[in-house]
Amino acid sequence: MDRHGYWNRILHVGLGDGRTWVEEPGDRFFRRYAGGRGLIAHYLLTQVPRGADPLGPDNILIFAPGVVTGAPVPGAGRHSVGAKSPLTGGFGESESGGYWGAELKRAGWDAVVVHGASPAPVYLWINDGAVELRDARHLWGRVTGDVEEAIVAELGDARIRVAQIGPAGENLVRFACIANDLNEVAGRTGMGAVMGSKRLKAIAVRGRTPVKIADPPGLTALAKWVSSTMDQKHRAFHEFGTGAAMQGKSLEGGMPVLNYRLGAADSVARVDAVAVRDQIRVKMTSCYACSVRCKKVVHIEPTEEAARAASDTVYKGRAKVGVDPGGRYRVDPRYGGPEYESLAALGVNLGLDDLIAICKSNELCNALGMDTVSLGATLAWAMECFEKGVLTLEDTGGVPLRFHDADGVVGLVEMIAHRRGVGDLLAEGSERAARRLGRGAEAFLTTVKGLEMAMHDPRHMPIMRASYLLAPTGGDHMRQSGNRNGLRNQVGLCHFLAYDDAQALQILEAVTGWEVTPEELVATAHRGLTLARLFNLREGFGRADDRLPARFSDPLPKHAGLTPEQQDTIVTDYYIEQGWDAATGVPTTETIRALEIEDDAAHAVTRDTQPATREERDDMAQLRIPLDAARFATGLTWKDYMAQMGDTRARTEDNYQKAVLTDEERKFFAGITQVRHVLMLAENWCGDVHRNSPLIASICETMPGCELRVFFRDQNLDLTDCFLNHGFRSIPIVVFFDKDWNELGRWIERAHAATAKVAGIRARTLDAAPKDQQDAAMAEYRKLVTAEYDVPGGPLWRAAAAEVRLLLETRLGLAPKA
Ligand code: SF4
Repeated sequence: MDRHGYWNRILHVGLGDGRTWVEEPGDRFFRRYAGGRGLIAHYLLTQVPRGADPLGPDNILIFAPGVVTGAPVPGAGRHSVGAKSPLTGGFGESESGGYWGAELKRAGWDAVVVHGASPAPVYLWINDGAVELRDARHLWGRVTGDVEEAIVAELGDARIRVAQIGPAGENLVRFACIANDLNEVAGRTGMGAVMGSKRLKAIAVRGRTPVKIADPPGLTALAKWVSSTMDQKHRAFHEFGTGAAMQGKSLEGGMPVLNYRLGAADSVARVDAVAVRDQIRVKMTSCYACSVRCKKVVHIEPTEEAARAASDTVYKGRAKVGVDPGGRYRVDPRYGGPEYESLAALGVNLGLDDLIAICKSNELCNALGMDTVSLGATLAWAMECFEKGVLTLEDTGGVPLRFHDADGVVGLVEMIAHRRGVGDLLAEGSERAARRLGRGAEAFLTTVKGLEMAMHDPRHMPIMRASYLLAPTGGDHMRQSGNRNGLRNQVGLCHFLAYDDAQALQILEAVTGWEVTPEELVATAHRGLTLARLFNLREGFGRADDRLPARFSDPLPKHAGLTPEQQDTIVTDYYIEQGWDAATGVPTTETIRALEIEDDAAHAVTRDTQPATREERDDMAQLRIPLDAARFATGLTWKDYMAQMGDTRARTEDNYQKAVLTDEERKFFAGITQVRHVLMLAENWCGDVHRNSPLIASICETMPGCELRVFFRDQNLDLTDCFLNHGFRSIPIVVFFDKDWNELGRWIERAHAATAKVAGIRARTLDAAPKDQQDAAMAEYRKLVTAEYDVPGGPLWRAAAAEVRLLLETRLGLAPKA
């Protein structure tokens, strides 16, 4: 059969025994998954055991171009890299541009799946159809520029393309990236650490066979459209790359500044893409086949003489090399230049206006192999901790972590890559570091699902809200939750190209020869997102993880904070739009069937070789929960708790009668013998406690051998702060433990179905009422919320019972087999 756009050849590499094998999964496979996210999610679900250590040999690492990658049309130079993320414990995926993905396709491969771990450092050499694992001990510890030079010299072909890790990946920095072509990176979610854990230093590729195109004239017409509309459609990217709009963003009050606390900085004009062009940029380059050429290259020398010499010799007088007036830094042009994310994350958000130092940090990140976004956001978090006294000089080994300290940041970049001193803590990423530190450090986080959010403030940019809340990778800004962008990630098409949906479809058809309807296009993206969701659910993520950190509930000077209710509405709407359960976000049976992913979905519940956990995240939290048998015994029994309630007791007693378990619920909980201790944090004044604590008490009474003890939140903040609800001290907090005090799971505040109802009632009452009528509005709000619980059959209590049941089923490996 004549295939176009793909070869039907996937390379598998077993690093444990050095074996390689070829999979030919068939045409249906490529039409269904299309590459990128879809392909990655398929392999993660089917090949990685549930609960696998992301840095252990059971994790796999997938390099996945899409079906249009390598086609001669602008934007078709993308590939994705995926694995279980060592940063988040969930679905890990990151996209990169450049030439490497197209070269892999030209070598005759549609993807590379790396299994196991090598006993010693190796690199993979793919020379068209020939594949070889080679010794990389001489490359281990070296920066990316040196390694690329060494591999090209060793293999004797200047056209080899290399994807590789730097020392940060070797040192398992959890936000280590995989760099290709030296200045392009698969940056997010720590894929470089996975590669490092496998002791795979690099994949070098040389391909000599152009990807077959079904309709070359049709594709050429689209390429010409990009060139002919450059001025109207792509001029800003062509002229500046990303980062030209920073001044506008600051004027609008939406620029991340000092760990997202301010929305503007006077210094922005000194560090934006316009300043880069005017002061230090020597040229623009492109990715494979792209006429937009949006990639900056900066070159800085520490002295006037060196800069002049480089201008004359390297650039023949056509470009002016920048000078560091402080004589401190040389910035190597091989590593490109800073994109917007780096200018913001390594610059403005750290209070820096030193463009030279920002470029140096960016260069070091590419040379050492780290994601600039997670690194910058982790530093911003640490600096705020230091400012507030949560991190001290004693903790940092005497290294001050101060905003506005440009040279300090350059030094910290190297410390993190090598895990030196405080760099070892920061190399864990901000969320893990905050958990390890305690002391309320979680309040300054800007992470979603463990991934540091990119540099687009969701208070300023509504379009980013769903992206951050719902991207399967966490705080990802590429509108990863949307079907349009989701599709581009799968097929291998750049987001920056101004193709509309019809043109994207034309490209797909012209490359593959498939006849594709717009509905199939949407379904392809939907499939990738749903598979990624299933993977996350299997690994212990749920609705509670679809939440912005507390920082974003605070207002900016020009923008309101985002309430939990607003976020819940976005999440619920999205679940419904995707055909997932409106309360839990679990894809419905009908959706799974419609997307034809029944086989993949089966792996979401059947690979229970280990209990599903949020890998080390919960384990770490558990280690520091200040609770043991002696303290537990000091809590109130349910009877004693009721007895002390005074005036408010009637409310709880009333609900105790109404929330009685159904026969089916009672049967299920009566069969749970593993839960031996249940901690509840509560307060007498809290409506959610009055409504939900009786149901929890009933569940505890039904589980044989289970003991419930109640503690007051405000007298036990050390306990409470172990269970923050995305930064909030929401109650009731209910935590289930086994006989050995291992946490089995936690349930907080109320059922998600109730949250959606409460959000609607709040919008109609409190939010709609003028300031002078808030008391009446509050009374009405309470009345309506209570009425929802009084609906015959108690659907909100049933929803709560179902959530607790699902939690225990998942954590105890009792989920029904598909
Ligand atoms: S628009 Fe820029 S990032 Fe996208 S493919 Fe072209 S050069 Fe690469």
